[in-house]
Amino acid sequence: MDKRKTALVTGGSRGIGRAVCVRLAQAGMNVVFNYCQGKKAAEETVELCLKEHVNAVAVQADVRCAEDCQRLVKEAQAAGGGFIDVLVNNAGITRDNLIIKMSDKEFDDVLDVNLIGYFYMMREVSKIMLRQKSGKIINISSVVGVIGNAGQVNYAASKAGVIGMTKSLARELASRKITVNAIAPGMIETDMTDAVTESARERMLAAIPFQTMGKPEDIANAAAFLAGEESGYITGQVICVDGGMAI
Ligand code: NAP
Repeated sequence: MDKRKTALVTGGSRGIGRAVCVRLAQAGMNVVFNYCQGKKAAEETVELCLKEHVNAVAVQADVRCAEDCQRLVKEAQAAGGGFIDVLVNNAGITRDNLIIKMSDKEFDDVLDVNLIGYFYMMREVSKIMLRQKSGKIINISSVVGVIGNAGQVNYAASKAGVIGMTKSLARELASRKITVNAIAPGMIETDMTDAVTESARERMLAAIPFQTMGKPEDIANAAAFLAGEESGYITGQVICVDGGMAI
C-alpha cells in the first residue's frame, strides 16, 4: 500500500494553488486538487505533479456547493486510502469595487467562494482528521484580511473571516494535535493580480517594503512548511508572506 501522505488542495489549476500542489508533490505527497472551470490547466498541474513521482488527481468541483465539497473530500479520502493528511484551502476570487458602487452580488459572490467554500471544506475534512487524530489545515487568507484595502471590503471581509475561522478551528482541533494555520500572502504574481489596474498595481507596489511582488512559490514554500513535520507545534497562526506589507 502507498504510505505517502495525501494532500487536498482547492483551486489547484492555476496560480498559488498550482504552486502548492507541485511543492507538496516535491515533498513526496500525493495530491488531490479541484478545479472549477480550468480543466486544461488542471491537467497541466497533474502533469507537473506526476513528474515528482507521486499520484495526482484533478476533480471538478465548485467550492460554493456543499455537495461538490463532500464529493471532492470523498475522492481525496479514497485516493489517500482513507486518510487526508493535509488540506490547503486556496480557491478564491475577487470582485473589487468601492463600497458605494458595490452590488450585493459582488459582495455575496466573494463571500460564497472565499469564506463559505473554506467552511464547507474544513467541516468535511475535520470529520476525517478527528477520526484519524492527525492532520494539518492551511488556509490561504490575504494581507488584505490583516490590514484592509480600499476597494476590497468584500474580499477583506472574507479574508479576515478566514483568519477568525482558522483561530477558532485551531482551538477546536488542538486536543487531537491537528494544526490549523493561515498564510496571508501579499501581492503575488498570478492571474488574480494581472487583473488589477495599472494605477492600483503601482499603489500596491509602493506599499511593499521589498518593492517587488512575490511569486506563487513563495506561498507554496510556506505551505510546505506548515504541511510538514517541523511545524507540528504551530497552530492558530497567521504567517504573512508579503515582502513586509503588513509590518
Ligand atoms: P487565481 O490565479 O485567480 O486562481 C484561482 C483558483 O481558484 C483557480 O484554480 C480557480 O479554478 C479556483 N476557483 C475559483 N473559483 C472557484 C470555485 N467557485 N470553486 C472552486 N475553485 C474555484 O488566484 P491566486 O492568485 O492563485 O489566488 C489563490 C488564493 O490566494 C486565493 O484565495 C486568493 O484570495 C489568495 N491570495 C492571492 C494573492 C495574490 O496576490 N495573487 C494575494 C493574497 C491572497 P478554475 O481556474 O479552474 O476555475
